[in-house]
Amino acid sequence: MIPLQRTPLPAKSERLLARWTDRVAAAGGDSQAARGCWTAADAPKRHIRGALEPMAHGNLRCMYCDDSRATDIDHFQPIAHAAQRAFDWPNHLFACSHCNSNLKRDQYPTDPHGTCLLVDPTVDDPADHLVLLLRSGTYEPVPGSPKGQPTIDVFGLNRSELVKGRLDAFVLARSTIRDWFGLVQDCDPDAARTARALLDSPFVDVVHAMTRLKPSVAPHVVGPRTVPALDAWRSTYG
Ligand SMILES: [Zn+2]
Repeated sequence: MIPLQRTPLPAKSERLLARWTDRVAAAGGDSQAARGCWTAADAPKRHIRGALEPMAHGNLRCMYCDDSRATDIDHFQPIAHAAQRAFDWPNHLFACSHCNSNLKRDQYPTDPHGTCLLVDPTVDDPADHLVLLLRSGTYEPVPGSPKGQPTIDVFGLNRSELVKGRLDAFVLARSTIRDWFGLVQDCDPDAARTARALLDSPFVDVVHAMTRLKPSVAPHVVGPRTVPALDAWRSTYG
């Protein structure tokens, strides 16, 4: 999971969503009313998708797992918990069907004060709550973070296919960063294109974690052969 920048919704879209929020209230304001409105809301969904797509990285990757293509508009706070937020733009994220429909569904853990215990990558910096261990491909909670473990559990961030994908991505990213560094040293214009391709690839969370490695631990994680390239990469894209 990487931090994402939420962009403001165009005024026309804001007005449209506000009308649909009124429609939910007029239909009773409960989750059944909201679900009924959401099912029929073709135009609002088009507007929301149009705003979410530029926020997703690469080829419209899921905002939670960074692997599969995002296909579903996820209500971060589910309709079952907050019917009045069905058409609330800050509550919409783009997810793959596995993260959205198979795993998260209506889960929305909170602490006793009602504070959500899930990382929202458009609000939180995931690195404040989650550590990606590059050599195992798994996430661990940041010690003391109340959101780390619930986020790993609810989004299934350590499911086997993601762990394998991250391990493969780590091998490829090390190699690509070394290639990129060679192109930079040769003043080859393909360097920028190579960097872009890496940043647009699945499991970009692996590249982010590499970029944030402390120089003191980097040799042990990426290997001494990659360190000069990673130092250059960090100073350019860190
Ligand atoms: Zn996903």
